[in-house]
Amino acid sequence: MRRAFYIGRFQPFHLGHYSLIKDIAQDVDEVVIGIGSAQKSHEPKNPFTAGERVMMIRHALEDADIKHYAIPLEDLQRNAVWVSHIISMAPPFDVVYSNNPLVVRLFKESGTPVEQPPMYQREGYSGTEIRERMLNDGDWQSLVPEAVVDVIDEIDGVNRLKSVSKSDKDYKD
Ligand code: ATP
Ligand code: MG
Repeated sequence: MRRAFYIGRFQPFHLGHYSLIKDIAQDVDEVVIGIGSAQKSHEPKNPFTAGERVMMIRHALEDADIKHYAIPLEDLQRNAVWVSHIISMAPPFDVVYSNNPLVVRLFKESGTPVEQPPMYQREGYSGTEIRERMLNDGDWQSLVPEAVVDVIDEIDGVNRLKSVSKSDKDYKD
């Protein structure tokens, strides 16, 4: 049984994440998906709660036949012991997949094997780009799995993002 670990904030879970997880699943039996900054929500860079991100991942991967565990992980603010924090919370894993330089560095220093996969269409498949399009009523729906559109609609996610991106200076009566 070989298990891979892959971490992101998934604000929201998009087609870049989805494509990468499909690739990872070719190499291993199960994928452990760490939902980073789990404690954050209702802010412009982190609009969705950990539970909502679990829903996005569960529904997006429903038909893909990928055995996975999505685990919310709170930030630690202490990089030197971050890998131990992850290991203390996640199902055991044998290899890490990441293209984030800090994540790669910290796991390599701990002696965990790390694979660095390529990025998929980074211009569009990017959380920052998707949140920007949500704020400007652009086409964000084509950049995420259909199931993620449904979750975001269910939780009124676009209006939430718009609300939390305003300041009281924008208030007009
Ligand atoms: P944000 O712009 O909010 O940081 P993001 O698109 O970078 O969002 P993250 O949740 O930060 O998404 O990404 C999790 C991991 O997935 C990171 O290591 C990131 O480099 C990787 N990743 C993000 N977009 C892609 C993509 N298009 N293809 C492959 N990997 C990606
Ligand atoms: Mg990112």
